[in-house]
Amino acid sequence: MSKKYVYLFSEGSGKMRELLGGKGANLAEMTNLGMPVPQGFTVTTEACTQYYIDGEKINGDIQAEIMEYITKLEGISGKKFGDLENPLLVSVRSGSRASMPGMMDTILNLGLNDQVVESFAKKTNNPRFAYDSYRRFIQMYSDVVMEVGKKFFEKLIDEMKEAKGVTLDTELDADDLKKLAQSFKAEYKSKIGSDFPSDPKEQLMGAVKAVFRSWDNPRAVYYRRMNDIPGDWGTAVNIQAMVFGNMGDTSGTGVAFTRNPSTGEKKLYGEFLMNAQGEDVVAGVRTPQPIHLLKDISEEAYNDFVAICAKLESHYRDMQDMEFTIENKKLYMLQTRNGKRTAAAALKIACDLVDEGVLSEKEAVLMIDPKQLDALLHPQFDTVALKKAKPVASALAASPGAACGKIVFTAEDATEWAKRGEKVVLVRLETSPEDIEGMHYSQGILTVRGGMTSHAAVVARGMGTCCVSGCGEIKMDEENKQFTLGGRIYKEGEFVSLDGSTGNIYGEALPTVEATISGEFGRIMGWADKYRTLQVRTNADTPTDAKKARQFGAEGIGLCRTEHMFFDPERIAAIREMICSDTVAQRETALAKLLPMQQSDFEELYEAMEGSPVTIRFLDPPLHEFVPTEEKDIELLAKTQGKTVADIKAIISSLHEFNPMMGHRGCRLSVTYPEITAMQTRAVIRAAINVKKAHPSWNVVPEIMIPLVGEIKELAFVKKTVTATADAEIAAASSDLHYKVGTMIEIPRAALTADEIAKEAEFFSFGTNDLTQMTFGFSRDDAGKFLGSYYENKIYESDPFARLDQVGVGKLVKMAAELGKQTRPDIKLGICGEHGGDPSTVEFCHKIGLTYVSCSPFRVPIARLAAAQAALKNK
Ligand code: PEP
Ligand code: MG
Repeated sequence: MSKKYVYLFSEGSGKMRELLGGKGANLAEMTNLGMPVPQGFTVTTEACTQYYIDGEKINGDIQAEIMEYITKLEGISGKKFGDLENPLLVSVRSGSRASMPGMMDTILNLGLNDQVVESFAKKTNNPRFAYDSYRRFIQMYSDVVMEVGKKFFEKLIDEMKEAKGVTLDTELDADDLKKLAQSFKAEYKSKIGSDFPSDPKEQLMGAVKAVFRSWDNPRAVYYRRMNDIPGDWGTAVNIQAMVFGNMGDTSGTGVAFTRNPSTGEKKLYGEFLMNAQGEDVVAGVRTPQPIHLLKDISEEAYNDFVAICAKLESHYRDMQDMEFTIENKKLYMLQTRNGKRTAAAALKIACDLVDEGVLSEKEAVLMIDPKQLDALLHPQFDTVALKKAKPVASALAASPGAACGKIVFTAEDATEWAKRGEKVVLVRLETSPEDIEGMHYSQGILTVRGGMTSHAAVVARGMGTCCVSGCGEIKMDEENKQFTLGGRIYKEGEFVSLDGSTGNIYGEALPTVEATISGEFGRIMGWADKYRTLQVRTNADTPTDAKKARQFGAEGIGLCRTEHMFFDPERIAAIREMICSDTVAQRETALAKLLPMQQSDFEELYEAMEGSPVTIRFLDPPLHEFVPTEEKDIELLAKTQGKTVADIKAIISSLHEFNPMMGHRGCRLSVTYPEITAMQTRAVIRAAINVKKAHPSWNVVPEIMIPLVGEIKELAFVKKTVTATADAEIAAASSDLHYKVGTMIEIPRAALTADEIAKEAEFFSFGTNDLTQMTFGFSRDDAGKFLGSYYENKIYESDPFARLDQVGVGKLVKMAAELGKQTRPDIKLGICGEHGGDPSTVEFCHKIGLTYVSCSPFRVPIARLAAAQAALKNK
């Protein structure tokens, strides 16, 4: 039997998400639950995949199957597609497995043409409504299917209103709308070069194709990359009989959440508009009313809705985000899904659902997106500065957090400015899916139009970006890149601050302070710690970072990059002296100056970690990174070294390397200058002995990590210096200190020979930054320049420096871990590349049996939660 590509809602179920997409599966589930869902069918995600296999064509079989289901829908609804007596009109919506704002959303009223609209007007006895529906359809179809910009149609509406001397769309009568429909069609023809399709089947196939095509538009591709959504999932298409919220004052449409998506408060939360269709609620053109007022307008529909909300929430055991339409007082459900929420709301909802007996702790841990925790750990305004500051206006607190940045007016500018290091606040009339990348790069988003469920609000909340929306007081002048608010003109590049928790807007730069964490955060983290087996350490080079990480629950330091301690002006002088030395004796003199500084750094780190393990990585970067580039600094160095400027310049140029990332760095420095290794060992051991003395109960066991090893003899050579120096120090102090010597696995050859290397190394830490660089063979500093083309051409879906390439680099990591264990069954295995804080990589590390992941302090909670989820998912 050939594959089935189309399912009636009544044939599907909530479990068929992969095939039917989230929207389709939930429409099927609501149908099965006996809820009032306008009936329809779903074209599967496999049909989308087939569309791409067939060279972006809907093949004849799939087209025939879609039409067969139109016939079935005709049977169910008693209406006929394209019929003049009783026409069936449908909506067409996309719906992938994960909700994706970058994709085509909706086409409504499909099936109308010049003839059908006449009979529709008669049948409904409401010509105004019929022509309004028709002109909306032409506009939506032209925009989303044929990509003729909305603005051309909006201009025609404005011209019509001006000619009639009215200001609102609702003041246009049936005749006006009829004329408008014709001028829309003419506009279509002038832009596309052919007539607007009047055949409903052609309209339908065009719309389905547009949904499939939108799966691969740049916004969707960007969103997928940000959210780790595979490109081969494809999207489903939902085709559903229309119900009309724009049939008059007893009709309407709305969106609602079963709990507050900003705070998590257990209370129905939403908005509606009477005599409106689809996009009107979120478009922000008319201001919607809060959901509780629906009771006064349409009590029966409201009561039905409240009952359905409760039923849906307890069925899905999660907060629901729903869309509904009321047609002549009768309620219809158009969509339900687990609602997007702020990080704070996510924690509250998870804890409340456990307290309400709905979820277990494990389920609560699994329901939170680890990446979202980022938002909780990010800055708020300094309270003193905030008290003094006067808001210039206030609007909707759409997504919490504090943002301060320079004003930009376009998403492109936001991206560009942010890439050159500026903090920006994006100010828009309203945002649209095209803006997604710019929104991502912004500190905050301020919009003139739109409610709590507007695009800006929903997307910003999902991203954890501060957003204040719907500030109608702003007078926008996009052309001149400025706006007026409270009597003042704000120009591009001037500072503005937003409080996404109160909705306040400040016309100045306000300082921000770090976030404090709520009780719910602690509860969830406590549960996460209960279920995870993978340990979480941090990458920290300073006591401040180490303390922060400890507060966030780090169980040790997985990577201290010692070179970061050398950039202090006092220290850099000693380092330069060392580099410019002619003899070992001179070098040792210079290193002796560094020794006490390194030792005190390490003491502070051990103190901060209170006896938890601390891995200290020895000097890694090439020495040219430390030499001066400015003429005056070169002169100064010459003076202190008793050398000529020419001598110093000669030394500097001798350090030049064509490919420094693959040059004289890492353990290669220790091979040529063992005295550096000896100094660092002395500092590590002396610091440990001192701290151990001060805190006898702490288990201070320093871990010395040698970077960039590719050959066991290299490690053995360096280790000899380490052990000789360390043992001498320990003996001299009559201490019983233990220490470990291990290595980073960051060169493919080290991974390939890990069984050998484990003979010398007591632990491995996977340096997946270098391992990725060297496995792919592209520079970690330069890859950004060309990766964009790789995403566009679908060669890579995500940045391999952010999300571990499990297929290639991961294979090396897994193999090296296994080889290491063969030689040394109790070997400690960690990861300290940037990937250590990426949830998908954390899961991978769990699966291959690493001991710990190590990541930057702010990502420690993310890694703890991701590790718990990995343990729960992979039991
Ligand atoms: C690595 O290469 O993954 C690593 C952690 O070291 P660095 O980033 O300092 O090269
Ligand atoms: Mg490295």
